[in-house]
Amino acid sequence: MSIRVKSAAERALRQGHPWVFEESIVKQSHLGGTGDLAVIYDRDKNNFLAVGLYDPLSPIRIKVLQARQPRKINRQFFIGKLAAAQEKRNPLISQGTTGYRLVYGESDGFPALVLDRYGETLVLKLYTTAWIAHLHDLVAALQAALQFDTLVLRLSRALQSDRLNVASLYGLRDGQQLIGEASGSVQFVENGLLFAADVRRGHKTGFFFDQRENRQRVRELAEGRRVLDVFSYTGGFSVYALAGGARSVVAVDVSQPALDALQQNVALNGYDQTQIEELRADAFAGLRGLIEARRKFGLIVVDPPAFANRRANMGDAVLAYRRLVELALQLLAEDGILVMSSCSSRIGHDPFKQLVTRAASVAGHKLEVFDSSTHGLDHPIGFPEAAYLKALFCRLGS
Ligand code: SAH
Repeated sequence: MSIRVKSAAERALRQGHPWVFEESIVKQSHLGGTGDLAVIYDRDKNNFLAVGLYDPLSPIRIKVLQARQPRKINRQFFIGKLAAAQEKRNPLISQGTTGYRLVYGESDGFPALVLDRYGETLVLKLYTTAWIAHLHDLVAALQAALQFDTLVLRLSRALQSDRLNVASLYGLRDGQQLIGEASGSVQFVENGLLFAADVRRGHKTGFFFDQRENRQRVRELAEGRRVLDVFSYTGGFSVYALAGGARSVVAVDVSQPALDALQQNVALNGYDQTQIEELRADAFAGLRGLIEARRKFGLIVVDPPAFANRRANMGDAVLAYRRLVELALQLLAEDGILVMSSCSSRIGHDPFKQLVTRAASVAGHKLEVFDSSTHGLDHPIGFPEAAYLKALFCRLGS
């Protein structure tokens, strides 16, 4: 189908922005179906601008696959994009890492889709039904471009909703195996440490690869410290802290399955289980309990889930971050280090830094941010909306 868009949208496409919103479309050749290829031409000269997936159920109506130069969208096209994505990740493999994000959505040319590698298992996660019409070519491209034994399909929360009927319309289920056989739990190596992840049921695709560099920094800072890992999930930060010579670790998470997996990850790396204390609790209540017990920590990592994915949640998110800073400061030893992370895309790096330092100053502390980070190389930021992760490494100032 052919499409014409408003001039602001034309400009955005020329600059490489990968989204066309519903309200930007001024003309379309016919009513498109989900996953149809939509070709956008400029209104002046009728030149090719971009081609993308038509997505009538989403306000991001066209998700761009290719801009500027026309290309045929087929298996070969996908193979080329996958090879380029793999090439970017090669430095990770030489670091002793076999689990990483192989495709990060738009930034790797595959809008609303991620592909994570866990050793020989690939996990493909779809965030739009528009990919389903291309799944056959996509899977064939994966087989041609990459080496793996098993391919697991994950569906975003929206795709799992009854409204979209993905199961009955297309016969696809979250956690389904498309190729090979996998038990739920797969092992992989990250920076030389062993982890197991439940790729069929775990959060995201089973593990948060996006924190790899921050975990490595925590490992380098952990020597001799008592560490508190808040929102520990399956223990990424906890295991790195032990690897870095932490004296002890307290891990707080509300989910028992996550804490069980944490214990398994600690054991996989041969660390002493007595060095780790698991606290199954709501983080806010758990931290209050630790404060009452007068505990102190030399390194505190706070990595909460995204509090604000919608504008409407912003106020609540800000309050939650503030509260977490206040609580964490009461547990921080004088020479302690606080690592505050946020994966809320609606809060940028600088506003987050301001929020954290202000919350500290309201609580009567001066917090110096001595280091900060954004995305690792397997989460490239191809356009502004792709950026969501930031972590601040802070210590108390005088
Ligand atoms: N730090 C982890 C990722 C954290 S994901 C890592 O590096 O792998 C967020 C975690 O927060 C999930 O495990 C979820 O169970 C937990 N969680 C969500 N809300 C919570 C709450 N109110 N209190 C404690 N844990 C919570």
